[in-house]
Amino acid sequence: MQKVAFFWFRRDLRLEDNAGLYHALKSGKKVICIFIFDTNILQHLPKDDARVSFLHEAIVQLDQSLQSHGSKLMVKIGKPVEVWADIVKEYHIADVYTNKDFEPYANERDGYLKTFFTSKDIGIHTYKDHVIFEADEVLKDDGKPYTVFTPYKRKWLAKIESRIEKGLSFYYKAYPTHKYFKHFLPSPKVPAIPSLEEIGFTPSSIKVPPKEVKQGIIKDYDKDRDFPAIDGTSRLGIHFRFGTISIRDKAMKAAHLNATYLSELIWRDFYAQILTHFPHVAARSFRPEYDKIEWRYDETEFDKWKNGMTGYPIVDAGMRELNATGHMHNRVRMITASFLTKHLLMDWRLGEAYFAERLLDFDLASNNGGWQWAAGCGTDAAPYFRIFSPAAQEKKFDKDRVYIKKWVPEIGTQSYPNPVVDHAYARERCLLAYKTALK
Ligand code: FAD
Repeated sequence: MQKVAFFWFRRDLRLEDNAGLYHALKSGKKVICIFIFDTNILQHLPKDDARVSFLHEAIVQLDQSLQSHGSKLMVKIGKPVEVWADIVKEYHIADVYTNKDFEPYANERDGYLKTFFTSKDIGIHTYKDHVIFEADEVLKDDGKPYTVFTPYKRKWLAKIESRIEKGLSFYYKAYPTHKYFKHFLPSPKVPAIPSLEEIGFTPSSIKVPPKEVKQGIIKDYDKDRDFPAIDGTSRLGIHFRFGTISIRDKAMKAAHLNATYLSELIWRDFYAQILTHFPHVAARSFRPEYDKIEWRYDETEFDKWKNGMTGYPIVDAGMRELNATGHMHNRVRMITASFLTKHLLMDWRLGEAYFAERLLDFDLASNNGGWQWAAGCGTDAAPYFRIFSPAAQEKKFDKDRVYIKKWVPEIGTQSYPNPVVDHAYARERCLLAYKTALK
């Protein structure tokens, strides 16, 4: 039996400029591509989860692209460890190629599988694809990780500049996978792709933003990005999350078009390296002393926050946008997160979990970073006594209430709720709770 190589797609659902796929194809072996609908992850998701619908569509498209190159995508459903145990019985595998995934669950799964493949004499090769620089590539001069963004960004940019070839940074260079497409195994015998229903899900009514962005949005990004009523951000989050676009391609374009946009992509790398170097952040505060805060819990208030019924218009608009579209503007994410943790004094982990459930672009590292920043307990966080005033934020970023009126049409009528808590009172309560914990 002919020995083959497998390429395992995970958060990198594209053929073009895909690091691991490039290395698999370039190895010269015939390559079978596989995707596993991981039931360890799927079992926790609602049946109409928009991200699963998106994932399913992306898989169908990937299969169509592979078919146009004479091959096909193998799609399995199950626990990856069990799926691979079956596949190795069926195929004579020389090597498995894949791209690195930094989340805690992925680390555990991949660690186990590395041992398993090695015990079967199968080579396992993993590559950086999801970020420009992974955790140990941008470190302080003393070899320690950065925990503050600005110096991290300076070092990140210096590294980009350190290897310029033909006017382009080496680190943005695309992997020319297309040169080796002839190495896909022709017509592998694989079953048809299961339908969404066969995986146990139903189509979502939520629409996913396209992966093409108008150049004008990126060009004017620094001017428009803070105003939620303006279509001023890229909405590419979900595509970065699942790798339907290449971070190298987008970072290179950003470097030419808008430094502020590039800076946002650097935040993404920054939080990914924080999660790798400080894995405790997934469960606890980055700064341990903040775990002493005595959080409140009030189910009615939490429900009001979730449903956009707090009586604070900018907060309610954001939560309703999230519930209806799976997206929330970054400025409003900061305001709603601050409101839950500071005004309602509820544990940031509750809000983090709710965003994780709803956001199309949910990414553990960035979501966790955003929430810990808002609660004041994370890296680079503003001092806890700086508490966003929703009214002041509204005045600055949605002064004509265009965004608010879109999501809270009943504003100014009897049916809009009274504030769930008084701003001045909430502010004092919050300051006291933080001060008590941190003394
Ligand atoms: P754009 O403004 O067009 O930015 C382009 C890309 O840069 C984004 O898609 C994202 O990949 C990256 N990016 C931008 N801002 C940040 C940031 N502050 N941190 C890390 N990456 C950034 N981002 C996520 O990708 N997933 C999350 O789960 C997530 N949760 C968040 C939770 C809170 C409480 C906060 C305050 C922020 C969160 N962010 C998260 C960061 C940011 O809000 C989103 O990346 C952004 O709003 C997505 O919209 P966009 O694609 O139009 O981004």
